[in-house]
Amino acid sequence: MRMIFIGPPGAGKGTQAARLVARYQIPHISTGDMFRAAVKAGTPMGQEADRYMKAGQLVPDEVVIGLVRERLGMDDVGVGFMLDGFPRTVPQAEALEVALEADGITLDAVVVLEVDDSLIVNRITGRRSDPETGEIYHLEFKPPPADIAHRVVQRKDDTEEACRKRLASYHAQTAPIIPFYASRGLVKAVDGVGTPDEVTERIAAALQG
Ligand code: ADP
Ligand code: ADP
Repeated sequence: MRMIFIGPPGAGKGTQAARLVARYQIPHISTGDMFRAAVKAGTPMGQEADRYMKAGQLVPDEVVIGLVRERLGMDDVGVGFMLDGFPRTVPQAEALEVALEADGITLDAVVVLEVDDSLIVNRITGRRSDPETGEIYHLEFKPPPADIAHRVVQRKDDTEEACRKRLASYHAQTAPIIPFYASRGLVKAVDGVGTPDEVTERIAAALQG
């Protein structure tokens, strides 16, 4: 299974990706997670990415494309992959297409997780994660268990202000890749509103169809 996961910030991509990669036994490639790891490690690329991320802006295409090309060159993607948060612009989608074509690889599906803007700010500002396990929580919808509640953290860009900027950039820069992939017959639109279990089953059904 070679798939791409697209959706507005807070749509539930990370939550669903964790479940689907376990089901399909494929590596989860999240550019957001890769940037956060680079920021934490203090690499020059991480320092550059951090400036954009804090402001709720996209990291420049050439930086992201370089990172993904390097990742797709690793051995573990032979069994397939789930790209989460990449591509996010039409130039990124074009660069990915060229890179995959060069390796004779075709995509199986592009899942678009749909959640209305009106629900997004609440999902984002209530998001917390456990730095030890990477598990994603929500203060209201999936509260962290009492024994780990003291150690959960909030992302720097999960403020209402940065969230609104990220949503605007999703509509302006990322949504145009949906017609790009629709013209290649790859798009599976899935309703992201409902319990996480319901959403997982919808995605699995869409991938089968
Ligand atoms: P979310 O989970 O809210 O959708 P991510 O964790 O995927 O956000 O990404 C966090 C931030 O990392 C983005 O706001 C952006 O600054 C940067 N980023 C991640 N992936 C990309 C990409 N493909 N292109 C440009 N910037 C990216
Ligand atoms: P993304 O990776 O698309 O930014 P996340 O998976 O991190 O999204 O989810 C954003 C927030 O919404 C998290 O706090 C998560 O616990 C919560 N969430 C995820 N799926 C659902 C759902 N189906 N219903 C309600 N809240 C959800």
